[in-house]
Amino acid sequence: MEVEIQTEEKKNTMIVKAKYDQVCYELKSRYDNKSKHFQIRANSIHEFLTKIAPKGAKSLIGFTEYDIFIDDSDLFVAGLCNGLLRVGVFSIFRYMPRLKFCEEKWYEYTIPQNFDHKTWLKRSCKLMIHETCHLLGFAHCVYKDCCMNGSGHLKEDFRQSMFLCPIDLKKLWLILNFDMKKRYELLKQFFDERKCSKESRWLGKVVKTLE
Ligand SMILES: [Zn+2]
Ligand SMILES: [Zn+2]
Repeated sequence: MEVEIQTEEKKNTMIVKAKYDQVCYELKSRYDNKSKHFQIRANSIHEFLTKIAPKGAKSLIGFTEYDIFIDDSDLFVAGLCNGLLRVGVFSIFRYMPRLKFCEEKWYEYTIPQNFDHKTWLKRSCKLMIHETCHLLGFAHCVYKDCCMNGSGHLKEDFRQSMFLCPIDLKKLWLILNFDMKKRYELLKQFFDERKCSKESRWLGKVVKTLE
C-alpha cells in the first residue's frame, strides 16, 4: 500500500494531506517558517491508518520518510504503536546516514547532499522487522545477538543484527507458519538484488544448511 502525501504551505503552517484510494485525510503537523521544516504528528497518522486498514488485517504499520513527533516537547520520535487500534507508524528520516541535527531544536537539521543509500535501506529494514515483531507481541530479546535486542539510542540501534535469533525466529514461525527455506531464499534474493554482499553471504550459508 503506497500512500500519497501532499504538502502545501499556507499562512505560516504546513497543510499535510495523506491520500489512499478514496480516503483523503488532513494530518496534524508543526511547521518552522524559517527553516521550512515540518514534522507530522504520529497520532494523526494512526487515525489515518485506521481508516485505510484492510478488513481482517492483524495490524497495519506505516513507514515514512517524513519526520514525526508526538508531544510538542519532542525533538523527534522514531515511531509510535497503538496496540488497541493495532496500528503503528515509524519514520526512517533520522536514520539517514550523515544527517546532522541539533539536540535541542527539532527543526534544525541538515540533509546531506550525498549519503550511502544502502546503509539507509539496511537501517530501515531493521527498524521495520523490529517494530513489526513488537506489534505482533514480541518483547526485546535478551538471549542472543538479534534484531529484537533493545536499544537506548540511534548508535546502539545501528549496531544491531539485521536478523532474528533462533528463539525469535521460532516465535515468528509459530505466528505466521511460513516455509523456513523459502523465507531465507526470498531474503537472500532481496539482498542479492540490492547488492548487500555481507547479508547475501550469510543468507547463502543459511539456505545451504536448510537444504
Ligand atoms: Zn524495541
Ligand atoms: Zn532474539
